[in-house]
Amino acid sequence: MRLYAPGLLSRRDEVVQSRPSPEEHPVRYFLIEAWLRRVDQFVAGLWGEEWFIPRQQLAEELFELESWLGLSEPAYAQNLNDRLNAAGQFLVDHGASFPETQRLLGVFAKKNKGAPPQYRASTVSALDQRLSKNWSWAELTRNVCTCGEIQHNEHCEDKLRKRIGELKRFLKKYGWTLLK
Ligand SMILES: [Zn+2]
Repeated sequence: MRLYAPGLLSRRDEVVQSRPSPEEHPVRYFLIEAWLRRVDQFVAGLWGEEWFIPRQQLAEELFELESWLGLSEPAYAQNLNDRLNAAGQFLVDHGASFPETQRLLGVFAKKNKGAPPQYRASTVSALDQRLSKNWSWAELTRNVCTCGEIQHNEHCEDKLRKRIGELKRFLKKYGWTLLK
């Protein structure tokens, strides 16, 4: 799977350089830290002996984190089918069994189906503003709702609360404990 590593490492450099301040963007900062830890594990595990199952879970977590960070189409995942075919051949050439190869590549193929919800990155930004500016739900809705109306109604706020609730469940799963 060394085919994926160069793209992943250049994406890592970009993300490190764009890392925001934890005071203004606590959620984005947290997600980036979680993503970086996993990238480092992912890369370090490339030639380990027992990397197969941890790598599979790491790959899924990386994709999930990237969708919330708005990194859903990284360079290393473009032209995925071509890369999967090449990676499959690489693995088989280097002694992986056919079922192992299929199982490993299946993680990537599955993640290529359908785009993640487009609102995830903007939901991260909304929760960052709520936390860093201490905004009420009404203030937050007024500032971040993209419905286009001048007056926002309860549906706007409900939608926002629901998306932030989904984000909070995701953050808890990744160990965030300080949520209001
Ligand atoms: Zn609205």
